[in-house]
Amino acid sequence: MGLASKRGRSLTFPRRAPAWRSHRTMRDVKERALGKNVIVVGAGVVGLGCASYLQRFGHDVTLIDRLPPGRSTSYGNAGGIAGTFVLPLAMPGLMKKYVQYLLDPEGPVSVRWSHFPQLVPFLWQFWRNCRPERVRECTAALAAFMPPSYEAWEPLFKDAGLMHLVRHNGGLWLYRDKAALMKDWLFWRGRRDNGFEFTELDADLLRQTEPAVSREWQAAILEPDWYSVANPYEISVGLYAHLRARGAKLIEAEVRDFEKTANGIGAVITDKGRHAADAIVIAAGAWSHRLAKKLGSRVPLESQRGYHVTLPKAGVETRHTVVVGSAKIAISTLNCGVRIVGASAFTGVDAPPDWRQSKMVLAWGKRVLPGLDTEGMTEWFGERPLTPDSIPVMGPSPHFKNVFYAFGHSHMGLTTGAVTGRLIAQMVSGQATPIDMHPYRIDRSY
Ligand SMILES: Cc1cc2nc3c(=O)[nH]c(=O)nc-3n(C[C@H](O)[C@H](O)[C@H](O)COP(=O)(O)OP(=O)(O)OC[C@H]3O[C@@H](n4cnc5c(N)ncnc54)[C@H](O)[C@@H]3O)c2cc1C
Repeated sequence: MGLASKRGRSLTFPRRAPAWRSHRTMRDVKERALGKNVIVVGAGVVGLGCASYLQRFGHDVTLIDRLPPGRSTSYGNAGGIAGTFVLPLAMPGLMKKYVQYLLDPEGPVSVRWSHFPQLVPFLWQFWRNCRPERVRECTAALAAFMPPSYEAWEPLFKDAGLMHLVRHNGGLWLYRDKAALMKDWLFWRGRRDNGFEFTELDADLLRQTEPAVSREWQAAILEPDWYSVANPYEISVGLYAHLRARGAKLIEAEVRDFEKTANGIGAVITDKGRHAADAIVIAAGAWSHRLAKKLGSRVPLESQRGYHVTLPKAGVETRHTVVVGSAKIAISTLNCGVRIVGASAFTGVDAPPDWRQSKMVLAWGKRVLPGLDTEGMTEWFGERPLTPDSIPVMGPSPHFKNVFYAFGHSHMGLTTGAVTGRLIAQMVSGQATPIDMHPYRIDRSY
């Protein structure tokens, strides 16, 4: 690609750190039974990834969730496992784009104005992360742990009998024309600098690669490294079934507080009772900051609410996970129909849904796949847990040595649930991790 965007021309990306390789090639060590009784708070895909690896490492696992496994944000995502997504959301020029999106009633970003005062400190930190030096640091942190995302899932999917849901079908990014593609040049250079291959497609190649896509789209990038699952909810259900078959327990309750002892946290207090534990993992998605606060840590976590529509009788299919980058829309063909996902609504987790957002998502879907049949369509929303630097929180509490955090996976929780789980299991087991966990700690400067 020859063109450089005006902004970020001086931005260079870190090359892949050597740690990445050892992380990728590390064997999935089955540890001796350590017999720790570990409670994982949150049975979303991240909590399930943690629980699965903790069990493989020999611990006794109890999941606590107020909902059945996989019923919250992990229920309705697009099913993409995209370990190449190593660039943070905060990039040079993004805040200007966000203002444009906010002014556009059909734009992908929206704010609930009554939530705005609470949002300001987060936006300030987000904006500070758009500086080139921070983009470099955040990219290095994401690139150090994300690339082996699928390799971390594979043994879990195999053991749980879920491989029939896995596809290695690649990601396809659509652009109106070559000029629009070039506006994203910085994004693609970052990918390439991190060693990910992709192919640029002209209009003819795009038509051959994804025949259902409308002629509005004349240029594309194909990312062959992406995997996807045919149904994200069935993945959560299957992981939980396998955990349960091997002795894990589930308590359906709301975690309200923690019981402190001289050695750390001795028990989790729920609305249904007290549950003792040797170690606790907080994997409560977009609600994790509320629990972290009770454990003495303040963390800037916002929900970036997204919506989906699923069309069971769409009448067309996509071969790839198709992305309209400019609109933050993704489309995938699942075993329950064509799913279109998108929208970034900063409303706070307690706000009621705004179904105009799902209508907007559907409208974009129709621009990509004309002739979509909406009979039987279902709508849904979920809370992406977002930190200002796009880096998840993974690591021990600075206050309680038997408490570990695993949250803040924003757009990438399905992708990175297992790789997170493996790192958490290593830390809970007192093992060395293959990467430096410093950039992911809860008490970092966001
Ligand atoms: C529209 C959309 C599309 C997406 N597409 C993709 C994609 O293609 N690929 C990808 O990798 N990611 C995608 N994501 C992101 C992904 O879905 C999330 O990152 C992921 O689901 C987060 O998982 P989690 O386990 O952290 O959170 P959740 O699934 O929300 O689970 C957290 C759990 O904690 C429980 N909980 C919280 N507080 C308490 C408490 N006090 N007591 C008891 N239980 C509690 C909740 O009930 C919930 O079940 C998408 C997200 C959205 C919204």
